[in-house]
Amino acid sequence: MDYTTCFTMKTKQQDIDRFMQKVSIRDDGCWQWTGADDIGGYGRFSVGRKEWKAHRFSYCSFVGPIPIGLTLDHLCRNRWCVNPKHLEPVTLRVNLLRGDTFQSRNASKTHCDNGHEFTKNNTMMVNGWRQCRECILTRKEKVRRSKGMKIRGRYKTKWQEQVVLP
Ligand SMILES: [Zn+2]
Ligand SMILES: [Zn+2]
Repeated sequence: MDYTTCFTMKTKQQDIDRFMQKVSIRDDGCWQWTGADDIGGYGRFSVGRKEWKAHRFSYCSFVGPIPIGLTLDHLCRNRWCVNPKHLEPVTLRVNLLRGDTFQSRNASKTHCDNGHEFTKNNTMMVNGWRQCRECILTRKEKVRRSKGMKIRGRYKTKWQEQVVLP
């Protein structure tokens, strides 16, 4: 996650200049990102070795740090928009429910495709997507078994990134 980086970040003028060269300001106020983007449709922007989501870089540089635990919501609903005025830090859940996207439909489902209930303990967020923990564990175990590896206690598996929904 970028949170801590945000707190210590002092954006250099040259990086801001480089950033703005990839921005096309539209009549409706959106700042269209013309640089590289990721599969989710968000712009990407590299500073040194670090790769930022372009809108996060914009917010951190022009507004300030994103409070811990919050994610940036696009008020204009354009993922490629990097206008800091169109971004608002909200909880991940608000963001998921606000967007009229596959993600919001996903968030309103009570069970995964395999019929496991999305309980607090069985739900994890991976890159902003809700995932069924049971299914992930089953998939992991399958891989391990096919490689003839030992299977450790089910819930001892450590996740690199896990946010449990409220
Ligand atoms: Zn916008
Ligand atoms: Zn499942």
